[in-house]
Parts: sequence; C-alpha cells; structure tokens
Amino acid sequence: MKVGVPKETAAGERRVALTPEVAGRLVKAGHQVIVEAGAGAEAGCADAEYVVAGATSGDPWGADLVAKVQKPSAAEIERLRPGAALVATMWAATDPELLRQLAARSVTAFSLELVPRITRAQAMDVLSSQATVAGYRAALLAADAANRFFPMLVTAAGTLPPARALVLGAGVAGLQAIATLRRLGAVVSAFDVRAAVREQIESLGATFVAMEQPVEGEGAGGYAKELSGDQHARELEFLARTVKGQDVVITTAQIPGKPAPRLITRTAVEAMKPGSVIVDLAAETGGNCEVMRAGERVVHHGVVVLGPVNLPATLPLHASQMYAKNLQNFLQLVAKDGALAPNFQDEIVQATCVTRDGKVLRA
Ligand code: NAD
Repeated sequence: MKVGVPKETAAGERRVALTPEVAGRLVKAGHQVIVEAGAGAEAGCADAEYVVAGATSGDPWGADLVAKVQKPSAAEIERLRPGAALVATMWAATDPELLRQLAARSVTAFSLELVPRITRAQAMDVLSSQATVAGYRAALLAADAANRFFPMLVTAAGTLPPARALVLGAGVAGLQAIATLRRLGAVVSAFDVRAAVREQIESLGATFVAMEQPVEGEGAGGYAKELSGDQHARELEFLARTVKGQDVVITTAQIPGKPAPRLITRTAVEAMKPGSVIVDLAAETGGNCEVMRAGERVVHHGVVVLGPVNLPATLPLHASQMYAKNLQNFLQLVAKDGALAPNFQDEIVQATCVTRDGKVLRA
C-alpha cells in the first residue's frame, strides 16, 4: 500500500503524521511511504531522514492511504485519489460538511479522535497522547506567565514560599499538568467530579480537594457526564472559594460531545489575587473560565487568563512521535500483508470510520 504523508497546512500546525522512525517501520512492513518535501521540517524531521528510513520524497496525495494530523482542507480533499483512505484527527462529529465532501470523493475516512477507550485501543489513542503534551505545556505556560518562582527558595535574600497551584479536571491532561507542576516545585491540589481519580492525584504528590457534599459526575467509558443544574451551582460556589488563594489554576474539564463545563466565573476570577494565572485548556470547546478568550492572553482584574489552542503543535517533535506511534498501531489494525484491509465489523474500525463507499457513516 502507498502511504502518503503531506505537509500540514493548518495555521500554527507544526506536527507531522509520520516520523522517519515510523515511516521506516511501515516500509519494513511492506508499504511504500511517500513524504511531501518539508513535511517533518517543523517537527525536526528532515527529508533526508525519511529517505534513509526507506521512504521516498514526492507527491503524497495520490497514495492509497493519506496520513494527516489535522483534517484536510476542501482543496486537499480534491487532491485525494477517489477511493483512497484517509486517517487524521478530523473532529468529524463537529464537521458534517467535511464528511459530505469526503463521501462525495468516495474516500474511506478514519477519524482518530473516535478511537474507543478500550484497553486494546490504548496504543492508538491520539486524544490521550496529545493531551499528555497539552498538560505538560500548560504547566510551563503557567510558570512562564507567573510573577513568582514555583519552588520554595531559601536564599540569602530571604525565603520564598512555593507557588500554590490548582488543577481542575484530572484526566490525561490534568494529571500531566499536576506531574509537571510538582516537578517545578509547586504545591499542587486538584479537583475532579469523578471520585475515581482521587488516588491518581494523590499518587502524584498532589492533594485532592473534596466538596463537603460531593457531586456525581461519573459518566460512561471513563468520561465525566454533565452535572445537574443544582450540582453545577454547588460546584461553582465551591470552586470560587477554592481558586481564591491560588497562584496558578489550570483547567482541563471536558464532557464528550458537549461544550466544556463552566468552572470559574467572572466573579471568582475577580476574587483572585492580582498576578495569579489561569491556563484554560478547554479553550477549543468554549472554555472552563468565563473571561477566557481562545488563543488570547486576557488580563482581568490583574489575573492573567490564557486560552491556548492546539498546544500539542507547540511541542512538535515528541507530539509527532506519539501521534505517529498511535497511527502505526492503527495501520496495523486496518492493513494486512501491505494492503488496506479493514475489518468493518471490528469495534475500533467501526467507531472511527466516518465515510465509506460514498456514504457518511456517522457524524
Ligand atoms: P476529558 O478530556 O474528557 O476530561 C478531562 C477531565 O475533566 C476528566 O477527568 C473529567 O472527569 C473532568 N471533568 C469533566 N467535567 C468536570 C467538572 N464539571 N468539574 C471538574 N472536572 C470535570 O477526559 P480524558 O482526560 O480524555 O480521560 C478521562 C478518563 O478516561 C481518564 O481517567 C483516563 O484514564 C481514561 N482513559 C481511558 C483510556 C482507555 O482505557 N483506553 C484511554 C484514555 C483515557
């Protein structure tokens, strides 16, 4: 099978879908890999490395399967060979027009954010691998924007207390943010509506902050569910009190298929100390903090509020390495003896395949 790797064209995207190492593994598995010139340049993967690994440099769009990080543009869809396969993170559920265009081109499209959260699929889970990057980067952004050290320092010029950091939402990104904040020396606490994460928070050396009367947020498949109106009101009131004394707050709360839950109101921000920092990792789904603006740095009542978008692209080498490994594992599932041969009865194939035979299968 010919596997094509285009250069990503979305603004600010620096990742590449396949690294030279993974390209080499696909070549060994009997595939031909065609990489567009400069595809890996921004991730630190030179064209020559792909060639050494056995790939060829050329036009990737005529391949049997095109591997991308971001969804293709309308112009890129026109360059796909009719009947070809496409694997990318397409956020298919939010883009019916994209699916319509892919179906019209008879593309068999797999949208990797739909990989189910089952043990067998863990090695293909791009949401987890890229959330790891986002959580790490969020802690560094917070440290960069803060007006203080994170670790406690005992110096001849006096003793400086450690920063107090709170992480809201302790999923994959939140746990990585906690681990990174701890490495930087902050005193970290965390909260989540899923009681099951308490142990994971504590195992990283952080404190779980519990509500006096807990809310019930455990949903299906390891995800959270939306809180009832009354429970959400109690959570907001609890969090307004909890964020007050913090130097740093990183929010990561998401509910699958829904806008991000509001966790920090404008009033709660106004009660925080000037100079404290909020990093809202839910910027792309509406944000957890009321005053956040996606992609911007807002200063509200002296509090710095960051709403970073596409953080994985800001750590392109390791983000690409993890993404490429996920993709390699996915390709092992859908290819046999060097040819594309998906078993459409397979749970993972079924969950991720969004267009096939000219039809939109799921949105
Ligand atoms: P996510 O990105 O959907 O959400 C981030 C966190 O926000 C979650 O922990 C969620 O509980 C929390 N949250 C939602 N609403 C909230 C609210 N109102 N207040 C506070 N917190 C709120 O989740 P995720 O990081 O993708 O993963 C969630 C879980 O799934 C993790 O525990 C992870 O271990 C598990 N997981 C399992 C697999 C697998 O088995 N293959 C793969 C990936 C993740």
